Amino acid sequence: LEAEEMRRLGYRVVDMVVDRLARKTREAAILTGQADQLRQALGGHLPEQPLNAEESLALLAEVALPHQQRGDHPRYFARVPGPSSFAAVLGEWLGTGFNTIAASWAGGSGPATVELVVIDWLRQLMGLPEGTEGVLVSGGSMASLTAFAVARATVGTGVVYLSDQTHSSLPRALKELGFPPEYIRILESDDQLRMPVESLLAAIAGDRQAGNRPFMVIGTAGTTNAGTVDPLPELADICARENLWFHIDGAYGAPAALTAQGRVYLHGMERADSLVLDPHKWLFQPYDAGCLLIRKGALEQCFNMNPEYLKDVEAGAGEVDFRNRGLELTRRSRALKLWMSLRTYGVARFREAIETGIALAEYAERYLRQQPDKWEVVTPAQIGVVCFALKGKTGEDHKQRVQELADSGFACVSSTVLKGRTVLRLCIINPLTTEDDVRETIDRLGSC
Ligand code: PLP
Repeated sequence: LEAEEMRRLGYRVVDMVVDRLARKTREAAILTGQADQLRQALGGHLPEQPLNAEESLALLAEVALPHQQRGDHPRYFARVPGPSSFAAVLGEWLGTGFNTIAASWAGGSGPATVELVVIDWLRQLMGLPEGTEGVLVSGGSMASLTAFAVARATVGTGVVYLSDQTHSSLPRALKELGFPPEYIRILESDDQLRMPVESLLAAIAGDRQAGNRPFMVIGTAGTTNAGTVDPLPELADICARENLWFHIDGAYGAPAALTAQGRVYLHGMERADSLVLDPHKWLFQPYDAGCLLIRKGALEQCFNMNPEYLKDVEAGAGEVDFRNRGLELTRRSRALKLWMSLRTYGVARFREAIETGIALAEYAERYLRQQPDKWEVVTPAQIGVVCFALKGKTGEDHKQRVQELADSGFACVSSTVLKGRTVLRLCIINPLTTEDDVRETIDRLGSC
């Protein structure tokens, strides 16, 4: 493409994106297409000859991209929303346009420096000690997998303790890393859906007695199901006393630490040996962005790889080869978008945005409690998540209401299962959501 053509198409893309952001509330919160229709519109022969780029862009914008969950819609409350921010998008675009690589210091010292800066900013926001290192990866799943590989390389292997509320990507990562199933203890959560400290102590003692070696405790700082935070200070004490690795999955909830209220919930998080957070969830980044924060030096010890042909681009003192901090060699920069958005909005705006989510979930809980004949609050609002049920209705009824609401396009919520019971769940982390959005969504769920 010639320069003028590139400009014309590039500006067209900017217009499409900005137009969409401006119209967001009038869009459906989710739209799922028919497989055959989508295939027909977007498929066709592999093009041997060039097709019109503008028409292809329009096809993407009008057919492919609308058929998805709009994670940044103010009434998208399902699973974990993705309320991305435009300054972050700009960083992402620039990185792609410059074909950024963040693999080795010599091959990308600028992007590597931005990643180091961003990781230290995230460390500060999470309240972890100076000297903690990190790496940006695709998301929480990959960040925890990376952490487990490092923990094993650092302190050896053994039994891992988690709860039935631990996100399923973590036991999956353990399985894929080859931890035998009999070394993965999934403890039944207590009646507040938290890691049960007494059962944990009993399980550790039982393992020691049986000659097994306890190795790692996994705590969650904001469960996906209910926003619950495990008793982190107690877990940290147990890990210190028993000499166990303490991993915390804060993929969803850790950014609440930016707020005064969140810091109370998350007390003890700063004692993790490894902490995962997902900036593509509650730090308003476009997909994908996960972060692992971990003890100094541990990442390189685990992942160091220096084949002959990379010796020319080996980091010296004070430099970092990010290829040696995880499983990706060729890797793009996920730090540019974080750097851009933290500078453009400032931490104060992020803090306010997170406070808004916490307050809106509390508003939802209050609104539900005002109608005690109709609604039951199953779990209280906890860092942005509230679970509830219609009195006298079955799990199937709840699932049907979730589906009907999604089909209407007005809003999207999730059902989930807590202690065997199917309930409704709102996850409210979009600062553009209003109390009206919350109230109308609950009302529609109640009257479907
Ligand atoms: N941990 C928690 C608590 C989550 O909520 C999620 C995703 O929703 C994950 C881990 C997995 O993160 P990702 O989807 O970024 O791999």
